[in-house]
Amino acid sequence: MEQSFIMIKPDGVQRGLVGEIIARFEKKGFTLKGLRLMQIEKSFAEKHYADLSAKPFFGGLVEYVTSGPVVAMVWEGKGVVETGRKIIGATNPAASAPGTIRGDFAIDVGRNVIHGSDSVDNAKKEIALWFPDGVVD
Ligand code: ATP
Ligand code: MG
Repeated sequence: MEQSFIMIKPDGVQRGLVGEIIARFEKKGFTLKGLRLMQIEKSFAEKHYADLSAKPFFGGLVEYVTSGPVVAMVWEGKGVVETGRKIIGATNPAASAPGTIRGDFAIDVGRNVIHGSDSVDNAKKEIALWFPDGVVD
C-alpha cells in the first residue's frame, strides 16, 4: 500500500497544531504507520532537503527545520502522496487554498508548518531516512 512521509515543522509543533494536523489525515481515512518527535541536526536537514541545496533559501530552510522539535510521520492509504499534498496545500501559503493546512494556518513560505513527500519514489527515500528501523506492518 502507498505511503507518504509527512513532517510537522518546528512552527507547527510550537504552535500546537500537531493534533489538528493528525486529525485531518485520520479523518480523511489514512492510516498512521509511524510517528516520531525528533530534534534533527543540520547535517540531517541538509540530507532531507538535498535537492534544494542550490536554492538561495537553503541555509534559512535548514535553520528553520532545525530550530525545534519536528513530528515525523508515515501515513498510508490509496493515493496518499498526491492527496496528502492536496491536504497540505501549495508551498507558498499566500497561494494555498483555504481548507488546506497551509491555507488555514500559515502566511509565510519560510514558516509553512508542514512537509509532505512530492512523489512515491521520494516518499520511499524519505521514509528510509527518517525511519531507518522501519514502521509498523
Ligand atoms: P516541502 O518539501 O517542505 O513539503 P514543498 O514540496 O511544497 O515543501 P519545496 O519546493 O520542496 O516545497 O520547498 C521546500 C521548503 O522550502 C518549503 O516547504 C518551504 O519551507 C521552503 N521554501 C520553498 N521556497 C521558498 C522560498 N522562496 N523562500 C523561503 N523558503 C522557501
Ligand atoms: Mg518538497
